Amino acid sequence: MKHYVRYVRPGFKQFDPVVLARETARIVCKGNKRKYTDFVFDPEYQGIVTGYTLGCNLRCVFCGEDWSRDYPKKCGRFYFPEEVYKKLLDIGKKFGTNRVRISGAEPAIGKAHLLELLEYIENSEFRIFVLETNGILFGIDRDYVQAISKFRKIRVRVSLKAGTPHDFARKTGAIPESFNIPFEAIRNLIDHKVKFNLAAVTDPRLMSRDERNILLKKLKSLNPNILLKLQEEIILPYQATLARLDQAGFDWRQYLLPLPIVKVFRKVSRNRMVSSLVSKKPRKH
Ligand code: SF4
Repeated sequence: MKHYVRYVRPGFKQFDPVVLARETARIVCKGNKRKYTDFVFDPEYQGIVTGYTLGCNLRCVFCGEDWSRDYPKKCGRFYFPEEVYKKLLDIGKKFGTNRVRISGAEPAIGKAHLLELLEYIENSEFRIFVLETNGILFGIDRDYVQAISKFRKIRVRVSLKAGTPHDFARKTGAIPESFNIPFEAIRNLIDHKVKFNLAAVTDPRLMSRDERNILLKKLKSLNPNILLKLQEEIILPYQATLARLDQAGFDWRQYLLPLPIVKVFRKVSRNRMVSSLVSKKPRKH
């Protein structure tokens, strides 16, 4: 691999996220093994076991993941799906939770690994499996979405980054032509009746009111009820986030909000998310 794309800098050459997904897969996947950095119990979603993958096909300037996103070769280690399952199960038993999630970077990279892991989860005591994704791979591969649709426990959380192609490129480093792909993912999830939720970084410091309105309108055009699934997020001043904003030429100082405001906002949005994800009555798409 001649040049692996890392973080956004001024004059940065935009990339195709589908190509970058393939390049990243060559680093973080080996057969049905995939690289992870950690397995922990997280207090989010009222307590959830989390497997943290590494390697992503976007380069969001506000990304809070550690530097394993940009340097995947140097970080983490490979695990078979069965090993991952056993680790998640052990932590779940220890903390008494039946919720599990795969997060960190882009967990949909490594189709064979993910589908095998889902088989284990499906036949386990886990009740809910949350998969957090940027939607690129589910947008270009309907077969992938069809394959995950047979698992009853999966809840996909698609994280949207921008409201227009120009802003998508500015904030993720990807070519503007790829802006629509996550919306295709939503369409595919609806078509295949996969349960999902949406998140979008609508932080007013990074998204104008006009851009937010365009985004909401676009979502509404997919389905009038879809906005009920949306969790709006703000940017938190993680060290990696501030460094990436700085590298990309954004003014990172404005993201140092007083902590009480951040805490209140987080609590409100987290509670909304938990209640919609663990609801026994799935919302109609
Ligand atoms: S925010 Fe998510 S999609 Fe964006 S670069 Fe980070 S891990 Fe990838």
